[in-house]
Amino acid sequence: MKLVTRSQWGARAYRTPNGATPYSRPRRGVKLHYLGTPYTDRTHDRCDDYVRQLQAQHMDGNGWSDIGYSFLVCTHGYVYEGRGLKRRNSANGNTTLNEQDYAVCLLVGSSGLVKPTDDQLGGTRDAIEYCREEGPAGDWLGGHRDGYATACPGDAVYAWAQQGAPRPGGTAVEPKPAPATKPRVSVAHLRSAARQDPPAAQGHTTYKAEVLVVERALRAEGLLPADYVDGSFGSKTIGAYARWQRSPAGGGYTGADADGIPGKASLKLLAARRGFTVTD
Ligand SMILES: [Zn+2]
Ligand SMILES: [Zn+2]
Repeated sequence: MKLVTRSQWGARAYRTPNGATPYSRPRRGVKLHYLGTPYTDRTHDRCDDYVRQLQAQHMDGNGWSDIGYSFLVCTHGYVYEGRGLKRRNSANGNTTLNEQDYAVCLLVGSSGLVKPTDDQLGGTRDAIEYCREEGPAGDWLGGHRDGYATACPGDAVYAWAQQGAPRPGGTAVEPKPAPATKPRVSVAHLRSAARQDPPAAQGHTTYKAEVLVVERALRAEGLLPADYVDGSFGSKTIGAYARWQRSPAGGGYTGADADGIPGKASLKLLAARRGFTVTD
């Protein structure tokens, strides 16, 4: 990802305390935006200028504490850091919506340049994956107009979001894994994650990719709320796994055998239903 950090684009300092408000839980996903004003394309050496101008508009015109968006993507595919991964955005319409999803703005307008470039779609895809991996954010993807009365992010960007934001020139959106490529999950790794993650501060993850496989399976079984599918085997995940162990499908364990720390037998039962492979 071609990330342009705040210091690289010459951001002004944000105002406290509001500009420093952290998210209070993992994000559901990512909402896309456009500028909603006329925009003409420019050479990349002028993109920093434009982002600084937008920040000034948001801070001095709207009276916000910082540029509103989490990230912005120019037509050349560079991803500008706005409020970033940890500070709550102010672009989605209200506090609830800002808390719910990241806000990523493509530099395209409501007139002039209205259709995103391929480089820009690639950069936006990078930003979405970055939010999902590092945020954390769930898989939900949509536009500012979802749940809020606005034309944003314009029809071109919205249609692309509805297709799942495919990488231009790439193959399918998110190819379904063939049976041969079932995710593999190690019991030892999971047990170690379940012991290490709970006491740690929010966001601590051990063997994140494998924990995510199990969390998604627990979610599919209706045992774990989507907000906690975050790659951290914390106390909510332990509680959900204990419910799995106690359930008839999970083996019907009781007492210390249903402590929420995965054992091989209960994990294999979950794997058989949810399409992953268990190793030692
Ligand atoms: Zn918007
Ligand atoms: Zn640019």
